[in-house]
Amino acid sequence: LTQLFRPLDMLGMVYRTIRQGLIDMAEMFRLIDTQVEVADAPGAPALVVRQPSIVFDNVVFGYDPDRTILHGLSFEVSAGSRVAIVGPSGAGKSTIARLLFRFYDPLSGRILIDGQDIAQVTQASLRAVIGIVPQDSVLFNDTIGYNIAYGREGATAEDVAAAAKGASIADFIARLPQGLDTEVGERGLKLSGGEKQRVAIARTLVKNPPILLFDEATSALDTRTEQDILGTMRAVASHRTTLSIAHRLSTIADSDTILVLDQGRLAEQGSHADLLRRDGLYAEMWARQAAESDSFSEAAE
Ligand code: ADP
Ligand code: MG
Repeated sequence: LTQLFRPLDMLGMVYRTIRQGLIDMAEMFRLIDTQVEVADAPGAPALVVRQPSIVFDNVVFGYDPDRTILHGLSFEVSAGSRVAIVGPSGAGKSTIARLLFRFYDPLSGRILIDGQDIAQVTQASLRAVIGIVPQDSVLFNDTIGYNIAYGREGATAEDVAAAAKGASIADFIARLPQGLDTEVGERGLKLSGGEKQRVAIARTLVKNPPILLFDEATSALDTRTEQDILGTMRAVASHRTTLSIAHRLSTIADSDTILVLDQGRLAEQGSHADLLRRDGLYAEMWARQAAESDSFSEAAE
């Protein structure tokens, strides 16, 4: 019976999507696409998370059957740790994020959260425990308050205020004449990239998920704003399991563990110090980025 209601759900979502002018058509079709691909197992229980650990167990995945993207990937993220995923562009980092959120199912292998296979639990319960902050967060043409409260149905004014504070955007909002009721987006106030990301972090805090996933959340920002937001991200990461996908290695060097992904395989893993000592791909990427930032600051002088 739920299968019958799916298309109706879908129409409702498409309608809301258009009404809120929230995402472009490509994004909309991607959402529709994934809804069709992934289904709850019959009688699937809810995911119950006490210790938010993550395990990728020999995960094989490709968007097209004839092109494998992840080649039997295995790694563990212990509950409460801060783990970074780095690697060349196209290595499969965002794919890991999409699989964890179950936009797609692996071709083989399993993904476990707190010991439970995410393919065997309801999608709603899975998505409730993961907060994602992407590179370019999408805000609705609505008030700042609405955009934050959207993180969780039934969020109260207190929840919104606390989240704004946690994301270090409360002072900014307090200075606006209309405060949380300020319209943002095309029809209202244009927020800077950094302000938008803070609203997105606040939205995620309202959701209060045990697992946080930052996919290049600061890579579109200038270095100063990035440093500010990294401080906020570190603060919200405490007591949570955090996966950060990062381009600039300086932003994740203090992670508990760094996973270095190369062409869909785990090339190296360890702390920043471990990986520098190893003198492999990470050390090479680190040296290259250091040289780039040197020549950048020289050029700026
Ligand atoms: P990263 O985030 O490390 O830059 P991605 O995980 O986004 O890399 O992509 C890994 C590979 O998968 C790339 O070769 C990319 O072209 C391919 N890919 C990503 N998304 C799709 C998709 N929706 N359909 C087909 N191929 C895709
Ligand atoms: Mg990516």
